[in-house]
Amino acid sequence: MTDCIFCKIVAGDIPADIIYEDEDVLVFRDLNPQAPTHALVIPRCHIPTLNDLRPEDAQLVGKMSLAATTVARQEGIADEGYRVVFNCNAGAGQTVFHIHMHVLGGRPMGWPPG
Ligand code: 5GP
Ligand code: ZN
Repeated sequence: MTDCIFCKIVAGDIPADIIYEDEDVLVFRDLNPQAPTHALVIPRCHIPTLNDLRPEDAQLVGKMSLAATTVARQEGIADEGYRVVFNCNAGAGQTVFHIHMHVLGGRPMGWPPG
């Protein structure tokens, strides 16, 4: 997708502070962090929302979860705790329509989320 900002990050056309990558996923720091650690886990392929996932994407979403745990360990927040969030569609706050998992940590997290 040429007009997708996260596809541009995957392609290297716009810079990002990448903290983990493998053949399927990329993890980089959020431009507007909401916690001391705020990273975004994205698949290299363009999937607009969680609603667009197909059964054959199950392994990819599993890899995204594993990347989140790797980054949480790297960032030193795995033991104290961290939050993983997918926003799906505008009503939940999704602004970039290329699926991404927020990984937030380094401060206490309230519940319920806003
Ligand atoms: P959403 O609101 O869609 O769940 O989350 C999108 C996230 O992407 C936001 O937290 C926003 O700060 C982040 N973001 C938007 N554009 C960029 C960008 O160009 N680079 C980085 N690193 N993060 C971005
Ligand atoms: Zn995209």
